[in-house]
Amino acid sequence: MRLIRPNVEALEPYVPGEQPQEAGWIKLNTNENPFIAPAIAEAVAKAASDALRLYPDPLCRDLRRRLAERYHVPPEQIICGNGSDELLTLAVRVAAGEGDRIAFPTPSYSLYETLAQIQNALAVAVPLGPGWELPVEALAAAGARLTFVANPNAPTGTAYPLDQIEMLAQRVDGLLVVDEAYVDFGGETALPLLDRYEHVLVLRTMSKAFGLAGVRLGYGFGSRRVIEALYKVKDSYNVDRLTQVAGLAALDCYELAMANNRAIAARRERVAQVLQERFGWRVWPSRANFLLVDTAPRPAREIYEGLKQRRILVRYFQRPRIEQCLRITIGSESDMAALVEALEGMLR
Ligand code: PMP
Repeated sequence: MRLIRPNVEALEPYVPGEQPQEAGWIKLNTNENPFIAPAIAEAVAKAASDALRLYPDPLCRDLRRRLAERYHVPPEQIICGNGSDELLTLAVRVAAGEGDRIAFPTPSYSLYETLAQIQNALAVAVPLGPGWELPVEALAAAGARLTFVANPNAPTGTAYPLDQIEMLAQRVDGLLVVDEAYVDFGGETALPLLDRYEHVLVLRTMSKAFGLAGVRLGYGFGSRRVIEALYKVKDSYNVDRLTQVAGLAALDCYELAMANNRAIAARRERVAQVLQERFGWRVWPSRANFLLVDTAPRPAREIYEGLKQRRILVRYFQRPRIEQCLRITIGSESDMAALVEALEGMLR
């Protein structure tokens, strides 16, 4: 019996980083932020009242008004989602049907490929350059209905300059999604392109820069035409009441969050230097809240497992070109000190 679509039956699902059930782990594997502004939890606690009987605002109007002020984009050009992951799904839904091409660089966020497979679209994975440069021409040549670019990229941390994103916008013939999940740690935003390119959709998330991975809030900026299409295909109540409250509170604490992110970026540079100097590892330049580290001559898997025994989680990918690398989130000062101490214990 054909119960399941064949492409879904054949699907290798996206596997998120481990989330241990017990306390006591140092989590440097899913790019969570070590800091959350205390006012956010207070606002959510206050909102956890009998108002929860009622559905949330399906249009997130308060939140979009505040996002509009913060990012200088009209509310009609903003959509909120259940994490930016949901907005990635909605982008596929509006732009690419079965058999259409969806292009993205590789290595990058592997969910792009999974989403293409779910849609039974044709995934076109275009290799990044030898120093993880954006393959603008090859991406444009893919002839895709939808192109995903993470900037800064994950898991490499590479930041692409805006002129390259603009060049890509000029050459692609379909929706261009610029996934800016990590932009607040030192990337360059594509928001200035919105005025000139109807087909550019910029996605953000509160998961990393605002320390809100647990409440699931993403937001997207695009042309009226693209945003209207996204509204047509979303679930009515895709952003719950408590998440909308958390998002508003997070925007109230914007300066505090950004100061924390600057501290994380500075810590990232110090940790990179320590890993290079003490262990002789190659560390790729990063503008995100993580580092991609080549642990040669020691196998990355061995380091990953050694750290796990010491209750420190980092991300290990069994994927081409990065199988010798670990992705390490920049946590708190004490998280990073514990990491370096554990590595010294293992490698001494
Ligand atoms: N884009 C990239 C590049 C990511 O690494 C992540 C986090 N896994 C996301 C989007 C999704 O973030 P969220 O759904 O938490 O907003």
